[in-house]
Amino acid sequence: MSTAVIIGAGLAGLCSARALQKRGWQVTVVDSNPAAALGTSFANAGMLTPSMADPWNNPELLPYLLKNLGQESSSFLLRAGGLFSSAAWSLRFLQHSNRADYRHACEANFRLAKYSLECLQQWQQELGLEFEQRQLGTMKIFRDADQQQKSLALAEQLSSHGLDYSALDAAAAVAKEPALAAIEQELVGAIWYPQDSSGNAHLFCRSLAERITNDGGRFCYGENFRRWRWQGRKLSGFSSNSNDYDADAIVLAAGCNSPKLLQSLGLELMVRPIKGYSLTLDCTGVSSLPQQPIIDEALHGAITPFDNSLRVAGTAEIAGYNLSKTPARLQNLRQLVRQMLPAQAETLLTNEQSEWAGLRPMSADGIPYIGPVDRGGDYDRLYLNSGHGHLGWTHCAGSAELLAANMENKSGNISIDAYAAKRVLRRA
Ligand SMILES: Cc1cc2nc3c(=O)[nH]c(=O)nc-3n(C[C@H](O)[C@H](O)[C@H](O)COP(=O)(O)OP(=O)(O)OC[C@H]3O[C@@H](n4cnc5c(N)ncnc54)[C@H](O)[C@@H]3O)c2cc1C
Repeated sequence: MSTAVIIGAGLAGLCSARALQKRGWQVTVVDSNPAAALGTSFANAGMLTPSMADPWNNPELLPYLLKNLGQESSSFLLRAGGLFSSAAWSLRFLQHSNRADYRHACEANFRLAKYSLECLQQWQQELGLEFEQRQLGTMKIFRDADQQQKSLALAEQLSSHGLDYSALDAAAAVAKEPALAAIEQELVGAIWYPQDSSGNAHLFCRSLAERITNDGGRFCYGENFRRWRWQGRKLSGFSSNSNDYDADAIVLAAGCNSPKLLQSLGLELMVRPIKGYSLTLDCTGVSSLPQQPIIDEALHGAITPFDNSLRVAGTAEIAGYNLSKTPARLQNLRQLVRQMLPAQAETLLTNEQSEWAGLRPMSADGIPYIGPVDRGGDYDRLYLNSGHGHLGWTHCAGSAELLAANMENKSGNISIDAYAAKRVLRRA
């Protein structure tokens, strides 16, 4: 039986473990936290959205960042500390915002997202995971005709790759999602994406970890990666603070920390954190809530309904690895609730709520890294599943299936080329 040790028990690591276990591998998952999904996979917006395949470094990003420099109310904020701590990445992130790279990343992300939702559906049939899943689509609402036109142009581009969408006027949007009735006059229209779905990523991870354990997988929590281990010139495993791990394959799925772990190998993974925030609001006693996720394009945020709560999430901040919660950024999310659900906002915001900040592992070219780092070379055993940015929940099952197939030298249902980990740079 082949063995794999996976570094990271977030969405990427757990799904990698599951996809390998399904193929008969003996899997061990190692994480520095005391339980699964306590990193970025803890309280994300919960949306499974092939419709949002566009990378965030779009051709309009640079003018936007410059115009909004230092403004706490801006949806995408560049902080000086973040810029200096990841200058090379920031430069590449902006370089990749040209039209050709943007288009390439949109299409690569969409292919993977669509495939990933098919895989997730398959897993759901096999495992019956409990994560408050809803398959009702998502709705993007617009307060500005220009923004709607831009989103329609992207939807049109992706429709040739299989995206379904319907353009709605304000009345049709309210008919589909009555919770929007109070803001109908403010809307110029909406787009509904029927293939999108949603679910609580943390519950999914917990449920998946339980299944992996029941099927013989091993979890080692509270173990921090320390150093790589070698047999001669060949990388054979790694040591944590308390154990040594050697295996036929090592999968690096440590989210924003993946680049740090590769540094001692002289490898530069162009992935850095983009901070985001969420609020989870208790819905007890609140009626007329949305049934599906609603994305407000003008306010750059989303509201996702779960069984007994609403998740409000959004904003992007290049601020290095700093996880502190800036009150003004959380205030932006409260404002989003007031502007999207004015009738229910005050009750929702006085109910109990939990605040959270997480670091999206964002690649400079907007595409995740999946596959072997150095096939046939000294790091032959090392594989990556990292850098999924704002799409880590959407991409998780498909990335893992693609990786596992590749690890067995098989081709997956879609080509792995666009995501190849050979994009990792080698320092001179
Ligand atoms: C506000 C917000 C909203 C989002 N909304 C969505 C959404 O709606 N849809 C979507 O698709 N995506 C969304 N995302 C993105 C998604 O949540 C991430 O892409 C995803 O969680 C990344 O998963 P991961 O497994 O790569 O990283 P993580 O979840 O961070 O997992 C990495 C794990 O590695 C462990 N680790 C790190 N370093 C070490 C070490 N040295 N030793 C041992 N263990 C280590 C960590 O403890 C952690 O558990 C959102 C993100 C944010 C912040």
